[in-house]
Amino acid sequence: MKKGKKLYEGKAKIIYATSDKNLVIQYFKDDATAFNNQKKSTIEGKGVLNNRISEHILSNLSQIGIKNHLVKRLNMREQVIKLVEIIPIEFIVRNVASGSITKRLGIEDGTVLKEPLVEYCLKDDALGDPLIAEEHIYAFDWASKKEIEKVKKMILRINDFMIGMFRGIGIKLIDFKLEFGRIKINGRNEVILADEISPDTCRLWDSITDKKLDKDRFRKDLGDLIPAYTEVAKRLGILHEQSNVSAVNVTKLSSVKKKSK
Ligand code: 5GP
Repeated sequence: MKKGKKLYEGKAKIIYATSDKNLVIQYFKDDATAFNNQKKSTIEGKGVLNNRISEHILSNLSQIGIKNHLVKRLNMREQVIKLVEIIPIEFIVRNVASGSITKRLGIEDGTVLKEPLVEYCLKDDALGDPLIAEEHIYAFDWASKKEIEKVKKMILRINDFMIGMFRGIGIKLIDFKLEFGRIKINGRNEVILADEISPDTCRLWDSITDKKLDKDRFRKDLGDLIPAYTEVAKRLGILHEQSNVSAVNVTKLSSVKKKSK
């Protein structure tokens, strides 16, 4: 399969065409942004870790029957994915209150929710991804009721699976963001999971110490983002325990592992 021209560049990823019109290549950048693009940086090795972590989680979700766009990881920074038409909604799933909801509703950070909460945000950087009600989705025809019903069922299964997976490695899944896309499979219109699931898109706290192992390390200037993402990858069993936590070593390790396959 040949890599073609750049189709789209987002804040953390680039999408390239391929010689197969149904497939594209997703490239994970090292760029980090926060607060609606007002804070920007480049963190060497972040893209490599997110590529591996997202591949791991999406492959596991596939195994429990959650259809998603991942075809295969190509190399350290790229994966082949199915071309989908992204539904312009960010689906935010919360188990514990943190981040924007604590400010919006005056809720104490760390408050455990009685049941998982799904929030909808319009995917629009210029507007700062505003929170919307489910009714807005139907009123503006951003997705159909049938699609949202399917998505909601998938979200609850994804949340259950991910809570368990992270609990098993001593991590609390506080919240995360999902995106879904439309695709035709055997002539039928389907909605499948798309984008990425990684410490860039989740809040992950160590179960014992509550240490943040996610992008809040960048948002809140806590430092040590690469060691935190590396810790998540190691606990998931993607990286070997003996590997060092610097970005350079993550990069080296990934290339060594790839060559040895
Ligand atoms: P909050 O609404 O508190 O800012 O975010 C809730 C959760 O969704 C967090 O885990 C956050 O990382 C994720 N999230 C929300 N919006 C975005 C976004 O535009 N990009 C990324 N990478 N994650 C997001």
